[in-house]
Amino acid sequence: MNSDDPGGTGRGSARFPTTPRKGWASVPSSEWDDWRWQLRNRLFSLAGLEQHLSLSLSERRGAAAALHRLKIGITPYFLGLIDRHRPSCPIRRQVLPSLEETFCDPDERDDPINEEAESPVPGLVHRYPDRVLLLATDRCAGYCRYCTRSRMVGGRNFHLHLKDALAYLKKHTEVRDVLLSGGDPLLLSDEKLGHLLSSIRAISHVEFVRIGTRMPVFLPQRITPALCAILRRHHPLWMSIHVNHPGELSAEARQALEQLSDAGIPLGSQSVLLTGVNDDLETMKTLVHKLLLCRVRPYYLYQCDLIRGSRHFRAPIGKGLEIIEGLRGFTSGYAVPQLVIDAPGGGGKVPINPDYVIYRDAERVVFRNYKGKIFEYPEPSAAAIPPTPPSLNPEYALQN
Ligand code: SF4
Repeated sequence: MNSDDPGGTGRGSARFPTTPRKGWASVPSSEWDDWRWQLRNRLFSLAGLEQHLSLSLSERRGAAAALHRLKIGITPYFLGLIDRHRPSCPIRRQVLPSLEETFCDPDERDDPINEEAESPVPGLVHRYPDRVLLLATDRCAGYCRYCTRSRMVGGRNFHLHLKDALAYLKKHTEVRDVLLSGGDPLLLSDEKLGHLLSSIRAISHVEFVRIGTRMPVFLPQRITPALCAILRRHHPLWMSIHVNHPGELSAEARQALEQLSDAGIPLGSQSVLLTGVNDDLETMKTLVHKLLLCRVRPYYLYQCDLIRGSRHFRAPIGKGLEIIEGLRGFTSGYAVPQLVIDAPGGGGKVPINPDYVIYRDAERVVFRNYKGKIFEYPEPSAAAIPPTPPSLNPEYALQN
């Protein structure tokens, strides 16, 4: 039995350690556990980062360049997950700018999936037939260096015209599903979020509301009983949690996710495949297993969008396929996310899967299983099924 995991179940606290209060050891718990204190004490600047971390030259230059690009934002809590001395730390890489993000490939864009072109109202994207994306805010608790919406988050060119967005929703009766994202909708105050949810719920044809958030990871203190009470008033409400690395699932994050689950909110995860963060099978396997322990169903694994300055993050598509192939069949089906590419230029999410079908014609499909063993499944024959002789037909027997 593992002494760190006294139950021997693999569900123990060793896999969900409490996050150390690096640099804030003297702060009382009443402040540390207050999400507004965490927000007020975020690190935004090079000078702030230097107080807590030994920065590499690339990070120092990246932080200087970030003044004109996506801003920096790291909560004291999240800083506790970061290795102070190792720039290659997978959690640090996600939030600390580096010089590499100032290099741009010709294929990279400010708006790589062309959301602006499908925004009939500012802050609302209507791409798919029966659902819309509503960008509730441009603020996040922290800022991810590979963010698809770097063009607008953190106070850059964002305008949500809520009245117009609601009017659009009322008029478009085909919309049955509204995804609130941003920015991070859970950064809104309880009052504003409650008002927004009630306004959406008042539209009778909207059946389903989803919230996309990274809050349980950047700022688990935000998940309070008061917030959960508001959310549960607006069911059916589902949530997608953005999480990329198993180290992000701390004791605090797990507790936040359990509170959301206890409020009846089905949770799914969205991860972005990132070089040096989660582009290997073992890391992803640990992540998906920890997600299931937190009652979160791994949902999507995204190929990183072609955002400007993202080349150092973008893993080859084959890497994602290799990870999915290494999970499928080797672990619980619930643990296997769907690999997707959000089509560059705006074609929507497209599932990408390893090839299991080897051959297919009108009569059979030949395929392999996860171990590479070959099988064949015959298609139903097109020939007519011969009629049952009257003596074998139970209805005939009953009537006669
Ligand atoms: S939390 Fe989401 S919206 Fe905010 S910076 Fe990260 S990826 Fe972008």
